[in-house]
Formats: sequence, structure tokens, C-alpha cells
Amino acid sequence: MRISQVISNEELLQLKDYVTWLNNIVITCHLSPDGDAMGASLGLMHALEALGKTVHVVTPDMPPRSLAFLPGAKDIHVLTKHEDTVRSLLERANLIFCLDYNSLKRIDNLGPIVERAKAKKIMIDHHLDPENFCDLTISYSRMSSTCELVFRALMGIGLMKQINRKVAECLYCGMMTDTGNFSYNSNTADIYLIVAELVARGINKDRIYNLAMNTSSADRLRLIGFALAEKMQVFPESHAALITLSKDELIRYNYKKGDTESLVNMPLQVPDVQWSVFLRDDEDYIKVSSRSQGEFAVNTICEKHFNGGGHKNAAGGEFYGTLDEAVAVFMSLLPQFADNNTNNNNKQDNKIQSKNDEK
Ligand code: 5GP
Ligand code: MN
Repeated sequence: MRISQVISNEELLQLKDYVTWLNNIVITCHLSPDGDAMGASLGLMHALEALGKTVHVVTPDMPPRSLAFLPGAKDIHVLTKHEDTVRSLLERANLIFCLDYNSLKRIDNLGPIVERAKAKKIMIDHHLDPENFCDLTISYSRMSSTCELVFRALMGIGLMKQINRKVAECLYCGMMTDTGNFSYNSNTADIYLIVAELVARGINKDRIYNLAMNTSSADRLRLIGFALAEKMQVFPESHAALITLSKDELIRYNYKKGDTESLVNMPLQVPDVQWSVFLRDDEDYIKVSSRSQGEFAVNTICEKHFNGGGHKNAAGGEFYGTLDEAVAVFMSLLPQFADNNTNNNNKQDNKIQSKNDEK
């Protein structure tokens, strides 16, 4: 298979060494696991099991129901449900994979347990600025997804034969969800060469799309309708949009975890909106989600104002205060992005240009 090499030879050699000699493996991924986190974890699990290894997947909290179809999803160990099992798996492991996260903060209460564990640790991730807590860090932020990197890692250490149908289903799921079904972050030929390899293993990609990205409860559809009709504010002069949902509103629509997935992307469908923010009043904090088009960087905004981070065009964070206070922070940021602001550091011409390029 002819795709360009991304992971360095040195990293591949070290990865191969660990995978060859260490047999008791635990795979971890970030809080609120998404399609990429679950797909990468379960895909790597099936590949390493095909190699004869003992492998367990451990998550900080429950993944959404929409990912329960992934092969192996029923066998994961969730910290908030089976803390003792999770602790003992991590203590006994001799190799721990850290997938789709770049910092121990992103795995919540799993952080101290992973940090203390004696096992060798390998990060495979595509977020910027990886923290240095692993023995091997395979971090390439220009990759579409961690699943793409896991495919490249398996190929790079000679495990193409172990990429069976189950592995392919999982890795396809993550590549698809992290690119919005190949609508962003997916403009390289390599991605489709990898997809071709995965489809050739007998996966039904349309079924994976329908289960992971195109399934909703009636309550969720009504919540999304309400949020767009009643709660979306557009600020044309700053090319921004805001959606908020309070606790009462979430209860009214019988909100379940995962129900607001992708809501934050929707305001970007308006041609002049370059920056979208969604604020949700969760149990302990205001969950912040942000998306942007082109050169407008939302990760720096989330780092600076919302205790978070992420990618240039998709980031999030946690705000410790009331919903109104979080809204006030957002409002205070608007003037600097207004057309008439000469200090505007997100050049409008660039942004509109790059948005047009994508269409
Ligand atoms: P989402 O808006 O879907 O929750 O998150 C989008 C992206 O933002 C994630 O893939 C992750 O990179 C980043 N992100 C979301 N929440 C947080 C957070 O609380 N802290 C940090 N550092 N990054 C986050
Ligand atoms: Mn990812």
C-alpha cells in the first residue's frame, strides 16, 4: 500500500519493541469518549488480540449509546462503574496506551492512576502540544484522527494482517466521526487510500454512518430544534453565533449524554458565521464547545477563557461559574472580532476566502 510515511522510523522501532515484548496491555482514552477515542481504542485492542496479546480497554466514563455497536464496546471497563477492576488492570499492566488525548487532565480521575502505574506508556494522538508523561509519544496534529494514526502505526510495525474486519470497523468509525463524515480535516489522498483498505476488509460503511452519526431519539431531535429555533443568537458583525442550554431546558427535553453532539457545528452553516460557541449547564460546570472555519483559532480562545483547549477549528473547555457569567465572557470577546475593529487578529478576508475554498 502506497501512502506517505508520517510516523518516524525511530518511533516505529520503539513501538514494535514494546508491542513485541510486553503482553499485558491496557488501552485508555479521554473523558466522554467519542467515535475517534472509542474507535482507536477498540480497533487497537482487536489488532493486538489478533497478535495473541491480553488487552483491556479502560475509559474514564461511559461512552454514548450511539457507539455501543462497535465490536468489543460491551467489554470495556468504565472507571465510574468498576473502579476496583480498573485500578487493578492498570496496576497489573506492563504496557498502557494513551489514545486521543495529550494530557492527563483529559482522563479525569483516571489521570493519577495512569500516572502512578509502572507500565510503559505510549501516547498515540493528534492534539497539539502533547504533555510529556509517556515513554513513547506518537503525536501528529495534522492527522485527521487518532484512528488514522493507529492504522499507520499498525501498518508501520508490520501488522497489516491483524487489521481484520473488526479492527477496520472501529478505525473507520473514528476517521468518519472526527472528520464529520469526511467533510473537514480530510483533504489528503492518503485518507482515502486507508479508507479503501478498510472497506476492502468487508465493513459496511453506510451502516457505521447510520449508527454512529445518523441516529437520534425523538427527544434529541426536539432539543436540537428548540436550541436552533429559540436559543441560537447570531452576531453578524462579529461573524459569531452562540447557543446556550440551561439545566431546566435540558430537563424539559429529557437530555441524555451525547444529545447535543454536533449542535455546535450547525451555526457554521450560515455563510457569514465563522465562529460558533455552545454553552451547556452541566452538573459541575458549564461545558463549552466551540467550532470555527478557516484560520479562526478556537483552541486559543478555549485555553485562555474556558479552561480548555483542542484543535484550531474544534475546541472545548469547562467554565466554573454560572451560565450567565459564561455568556458574559463570550460577549466580552465579540468586539475584537468585529469587522470595524482594526486590531482584529483573525483577518476576515482570509477567513471568508478559506471558507469559500472548502465549499
Ligand atoms: P467537543 O466540543 O466535541 O466537546 O470537543 C471538541 C474538541 O475540543 C475535543 O476533541 C478536544 O480536543 C477539545 N476539548 C473539548 N473539551 C475540552 C476540555 O475540557 N479541555 C481541553 N483541553 N480540550 C477540550
Ligand atoms: Mn480525535
